[in-house]
Amino acid sequence: MPTRSGPSSPSVQQSATPAGASGEGKANHKVVIVGAGFAGLFATKHLKSEAVDVTVIDRTTHHLFSPLLYQVATGILSEGEIAPAIRDVLRAQHNARVVWGDVVDVDLDERTVTSRSMGHELVTAYDSLIVAAGARSSYFGHDEFGAHAPGLKTIDDAMEVRARIFGAFEMAEIESDPERRAAWLTFVVVGAGPAGVEMAGQIAELSRQSLRSNFRSIDPRKARILLLDGAPRILGAFDESLSKKAAAQLRRLGVEIELGAIVTGVDAESIEVKSGEESRTVRTMTKVWAAGIQASSLGALLARRSGAELTRSGQVRVTPDCSLPGHREVFVVGDMMALDHLPGLAEVAMQSGRHAASEIRRRLEGDTGTRPFHYLDLGSLAAISRFYAVGQRGRVRLSGAPGWIVWLTVHLVFLTGFKSRADALFHWIISLFGRARAERTITRRQGLARPPLEARCATSAEPKSQSEPWSDS
Ligand SMILES: Cc1cc2nc3c(=O)[nH]c(=O)nc-3n(C[C@H](O)[C@H](O)[C@H](O)COP(=O)(O)OP(=O)(O)OC[C@H]3O[C@@H](n4cnc5c(N)ncnc54)[C@H](O)[C@@H]3O)c2cc1C
Repeated sequence: MPTRSGPSSPSVQQSATPAGASGEGKANHKVVIVGAGFAGLFATKHLKSEAVDVTVIDRTTHHLFSPLLYQVATGILSEGEIAPAIRDVLRAQHNARVVWGDVVDVDLDERTVTSRSMGHELVTAYDSLIVAAGARSSYFGHDEFGAHAPGLKTIDDAMEVRARIFGAFEMAEIESDPERRAAWLTFVVVGAGPAGVEMAGQIAELSRQSLRSNFRSIDPRKARILLLDGAPRILGAFDESLSKKAAAQLRRLGVEIELGAIVTGVDAESIEVKSGEESRTVRTMTKVWAAGIQASSLGALLARRSGAELTRSGQVRVTPDCSLPGHREVFVVGDMMALDHLPGLAEVAMQSGRHAASEIRRRLEGDTGTRPFHYLDLGSLAAISRFYAVGQRGRVRLSGAPGWIVWLTVHLVFLTGFKSRADALFHWIISLFGRARAERTITRRQGLARPPLEARCATSAEPKSQSEPWSDS
């Protein structure tokens, strides 16, 4: 086991010290942050000037701007533009170190976190813990659908979806059987929330505009794009007037919208859909799953260990200050947190991450009271197509070009790093004004790698255990 610093010190420490080098033999308060997504990264940055040692553990090496995953999947942006290296983002924050590892255990009594990476196991001690491991796609009890209908939660997902979309047009070009060709040219997006709507809109623009003179045997404009949802309207979290406008714009682009539709089966070449009493099969080679999320399984682990309650989608019911019931030193934030019915949004994640960091800071300054988390709703946006987005904030409703300008501005401001912003802007100019897609590279591995990789991970050797290499013990 690694050496742990003593119980939380209430002493006020003014200046930041390099991680692990606390000076004069006094150990800094150790903060471990699981996940460098929106919540984890904002919590980390909020502790920049504190005399704490922060360890950020993430199973990937990048911070992902997930709202733009669909643009990677449809060839507008490259993966690097929305996923800068966590290490680079935090290069100037000297009290933070980054660990690449999949967190597999949290010992609430010993106050340690166990993570694994490529067969190595690492045990990291904490005084305060922020768990911000986000969520994954939910197939509502049918995880087998995932083999044929990838979700859109990670860079791997986006690269796989890109390979499937562009690969489908290639296959249609060489397919001589008209039925199979039609199946290659049928794209089904399941889930009509912002991610599904944006995805369907982009596949439509890709087929109608970007690819139109690229093929000789097929006309990409004939591609069928189907957007399915069990709800009575698209963009259910938006005002109804905006849902209607977004649906009308999607239809103008050629997207078929089917509401009240439940997916009951998915295989390599088709999808089963039930609408009311009627079931039918749609032949399609390319399915994208954008319906529903399930919180990280670390939520269930924390609930088991602490007795906290879980929601149906696996979120942990936290106390008003975002801490785990019975464990004031552990915070659960972002998509993993259930509090006041807050939605799974980037803004909720950023604000809750910052709140957890503020709580730690206040306690270290000797303030033992708790402060409830209050979410400030900054509004919602969804981009339907080139120059068309819908958005709302309070009573303000925006649609069309004004909505799109706000969408563009907000996304440029929130993308992490100047280089990402400049690159994204450049690619947006190319695809919006020139209608071309700069990122159309696909590899066989992207399209075919998932099953072999998963099989390999499942059979990998027992991990080698190790404590923090930077600790004194
Ligand atoms: C396609 C898509 C589009 C979206 N569009 C919008 C939008 O337009 N507007 C909006 O507000 N929100 C949007 N969201 C939602 C928003 O992205 C999430 O609410 C937000 O990312 C949640 O932040 P988080 O920090 O809780 O989790 P995440 O940002 O998901 O970060 C979780 C981090 O934890 C890491 N992790 C997970 N498990 C482990 C583990 N066991 N060990 C170590 N690390 C782990 C992950 O690698 C990841 O880096 C979208 C989401 C998706 C997927």
